[in-house]
Amino acid sequence: MRPQQISSIHMEVFARGIGSQIVRVIPKETACYQCQAKVLASYFSEQPLAPDTTVASYDATPTDLHSSVTADDDVCMLTAGFVVKMAKDCLLRKCGEPIKVPGHIYLLGFEQEWIFDEPFEIKRVSSLLPQLNCPTCSGDEAIRCTLQMTSEEAEQETQKVEARIEYVGDTGSGTSTG
Ligand SMILES: [Zn+2]
Repeated sequence: MRPQQISSIHMEVFARGIGSQIVRVIPKETACYQCQAKVLASYFSEQPLAPDTTVASYDATPTDLHSSVTADDDVCMLTAGFVVKMAKDCLLRKCGEPIKVPGHIYLLGFEQEWIFDEPFEIKRVSSLLPQLNCPTCSGDEAIRCTLQMTSEEAEQETQKVEARIEYVGDTGSGTSTG
């Protein structure tokens, strides 16, 4: 099945709401989410260790609240606002508008700790272009490279495989046991 070429935006709020991360994936323009996640993992591996993230769950009772809550609404709403801004880019470009948010990976800081020097901070992490050796990033092209086929050879092979597929409808002959 061919990929649907739909852009996506992935957000995550860090424990205790000290910050959040946003990753935008635009097919054929950025690497896929898995490749971008590796970029972020590599970035975090070069940073100081994240602070203690022991938090109470959302359904904690007042007597359970030894530690801070997971994250407050304000942090989630601020992050969601940035996500909307980045999503608007993807929608408006179909009408010919240029991209206004140039980065695809952002870290937002909401507390002055860990990797954030200010209580409000935005860090941009360099994102990757689509990776040729990744089937998700580069789709059929990556598979052709792996199989060392030209596009014509790949198309012929696809037709051969499709000719062998026998489409069988529901025969209603399923058996049940028990
Ligand atoms: Zn990829």
